[in-house]
Amino acid sequence: MDIIRDSETAAGFKEHGTPGDMGPNDAAGDWPTKNWHSNSWGKGEELYDKFFEQHLVKNNGCYRGCPIACGRIAGVKAGKFQTPAHEGSEYESLSAFTAFVLNEDIEAAIHSTYLG
Ligand code: SF4
Repeated sequence: MDIIRDSETAAGFKEHGTPGDMGPNDAAGDWPTKNWHSNSWGKGEELYDKFFEQHLVKNNGCYRGCPIACGRIAGVKAGKFQTPAHEGSEYESLSAFTAFVLNEDIEAAIHSTYLG
């Protein structure tokens, strides 16, 4: 547990969770774009930054004491896609509701993870 707790990888997942891979995977050509008709979109970093800066409430562990706590609690405070803080905005779900369907509205994606 100490090795995990002290590792850079664990620290990265703790701060950014799995959604933090949206930008790097997009840049590396491994982001499911338009139902995998493409492998990059050029919008992963921008979408993730908006998620991180405006909609991430806190990180969350599956169990008390997880040294990584990669889960995310996110929400949308106001507007058309106002959404309570909830679990579910992870790499796969946010990618499915953005790049996969060419949706540039991260708030719509967060709301979709809530409905799902
Ligand atoms: S136990 Fe849960 S919160 Fe901890 S690293 Fe695994 S998936 Fe993430």
